[in-house]
Amino acid sequence: HWIEQQQLKRFTGVRTLRAEFDLFCLRSVDPAYDPSHFARESANARSNAKALEYVQKCEQNLLDRRGFNLPSRLLSEILLGNSKYVIAAFRNIKEDKKFPPTYFYAYDPYAHENIQFYQYRPKRIGQPFYTVCSYPLGDYLQPPPENTLRITQYNGWIKINPNGRVHADLGADIYTGRRKPRVIYLRLSNILRLNFITNQFGDTLNFIQEEKEAGFTVFFPDTATARDTLRLFFSYEGELMSKNSDGNWYLKDRVYWTPRLGYFRRARYKIIFKYPRRYQVISIGRLVKDWYENNWHLSYFVHSTPAKASIFAMGDFRKQAFWGPDSVYIELYGRQASSEKAFRKITADVANSLFLFSKYLTPYKYKSLKIIEAPRLDSQGFPGFINLTWVSFKSQYHGAMEALRSHEVAHQWWGNYIGWRTYRDQWLSEGFAEYMGALFLALALPSTQFYKKQLQAWCDDILEGGNIGVSLGLQEFGFSKRALRNSELEKSGPIYLGYRIGQREPADYYLSIYEKGAYVLHMLRQYLIDDQTESDEQFWTMLNEFLKTWAGRDPSTLDFIRFVNDFTHQDLTWFFNQWVLGDKIPSYEYSYRIIREKAGFQITGTVLQKEVPDDFRAYIPVLIYFNGHGHVRRRIKVQGRTTHFRFGPFEWKPQNFVFNADNAILAKIKNKN
Ligand SMILES: [Zn+2]
Repeated sequence: HWIEQQQLKRFTGVRTLRAEFDLFCLRSVDPAYDPSHFARESANARSNAKALEYVQKCEQNLLDRRGFNLPSRLLSEILLGNSKYVIAAFRNIKEDKKFPPTYFYAYDPYAHENIQFYQYRPKRIGQPFYTVCSYPLGDYLQPPPENTLRITQYNGWIKINPNGRVHADLGADIYTGRRKPRVIYLRLSNILRLNFITNQFGDTLNFIQEEKEAGFTVFFPDTATARDTLRLFFSYEGELMSKNSDGNWYLKDRVYWTPRLGYFRRARYKIIFKYPRRYQVISIGRLVKDWYENNWHLSYFVHSTPAKASIFAMGDFRKQAFWGPDSVYIELYGRQASSEKAFRKITADVANSLFLFSKYLTPYKYKSLKIIEAPRLDSQGFPGFINLTWVSFKSQYHGAMEALRSHEVAHQWWGNYIGWRTYRDQWLSEGFAEYMGALFLALALPSTQFYKKQLQAWCDDILEGGNIGVSLGLQEFGFSKRALRNSELEKSGPIYLGYRIGQREPADYYLSIYEKGAYVLHMLRQYLIDDQTESDEQFWTMLNEFLKTWAGRDPSTLDFIRFVNDFTHQDLTWFFNQWVLGDKIPSYEYSYRIIREKAGFQITGTVLQKEVPDDFRAYIPVLIYFNGHGHVRRRIKVQGRTTHFRFGPFEWKPQNFVFNADNAILAKIKNKN
């Protein structure tokens, strides 16, 4: 696919990689790769030793940089039989003779994205290890199926010692379907070490968990049961918790503190936390029981609707609770030092966001919403639970902070109520939540210019590489020019690459998935606005139906495109090809004049479209204002290089002509009048 080819160019400088190597290693258990097929000349002992050293180095790199245990994987392949898995590594001396990069090329028949291509540069600063390409051999856009091997429920104990060391005894129900696995690979934070694994019959199972490995492999006896659900018990421990300066604790790894199968698959969580008496643990779900035993505090949380991920926080919190809209119980947990004023402000924004999104999207799904002050710079939304950065409890930034709080509340719908399928679809969560944050500014704070400023800031971030005045505090929204000085902007690739965009510059991930992702939704809303009534009702109806259609499930980008096409009875595939799968951003130069004819006044003009392919399409809304007689909204369909437009005749003389009203299309705009 051209997206992958472009990534190849981004990291290697060429569209087709022809390598010359001085070292090459290939690992597979497929007899087709038996070395005897390749050995044309008998290698001497010295080069064999060098090659062997290279193999070991490559394996160590994969483990250190990707948490990937290749020997363990090869062992699994032997057990599975008839293996086609193969991985090759080579040093490309053609690219750089002195410090050649190592490339890893893997073919994995079981992964959804069968082909993986990595680049490792041991001599560069930070020793970058990039995913250059990753793609399925089948249809590039086809998402992986929903019903594969997955954990459906966690059940058990998490004990947190006074020093922050965690000991877990967790049961997990694994849905296997008809497939009876001999081997399963699960991910688990490399902070945590397994003690033992047993099955539902009490048999101890063999496993491999290497130092630094980002998971482990479990081996099952031949006599696997005929049931479609396995129950395993995991005992593991490690220094999972870290204490911040205020004495509250946070998770060093917020995702892989439980063993996980696949990418953010949904599961139920029933966990008893046992921890020092002076603290309080807050987790997702309902607090079913809370009690004390000697020096220990115990809290039993049950989250009975499948959640994409769970989380907990531990500390000595200052708590405030109140009834929000629709009898939602809102619980706020801050540091003891946080101010009453901050609590009030956050409370108001959360309640207003809940009210608005319940009204415009779908009713909020849970009976309560917990907001926990997190000792980090970033925030996350879990079902009924928001980790809100301490910055939001302190900062005076007016506008941007309201949008952030609202963004996190919006994740209750985008990310939780419906999720996203793979890393490529993350804009369906982050981009949507980001846009909801902006719409919150428009709907809840209409007297401010915040919404307009937010849109302009996104434009400036994406098109101009940042906003002037951010670092001076003159501007509340967007990045500063300095923060984006290393940004690759649109050259990093399209939204559909997900996290891979930010591999060189993390801000590029934010720019694409959050800001441009939000802008895609903004453009869709602008497209769906009724020109006569200027109502965006169709947009909200579409989101409402999308939520209801995918409730409790995880759509992919392709699912969203299909949904939009069905909903609008139009084929808007071109729109998504341009903005989600494509990386080009147009530039428009327009000019117009007002002419008076017998029938009335007319506006005629020209739009030049540049920097995009000829079939690039846009419907650019314009507003025509008449002195004392209101205005009308029209749109110009632009395709190809030159477009002529004509509006009228009008009874009154147009006084003002607004091109690309409401920043409707993400584009560089120039008025050539
Ligand atoms: Zn978010």
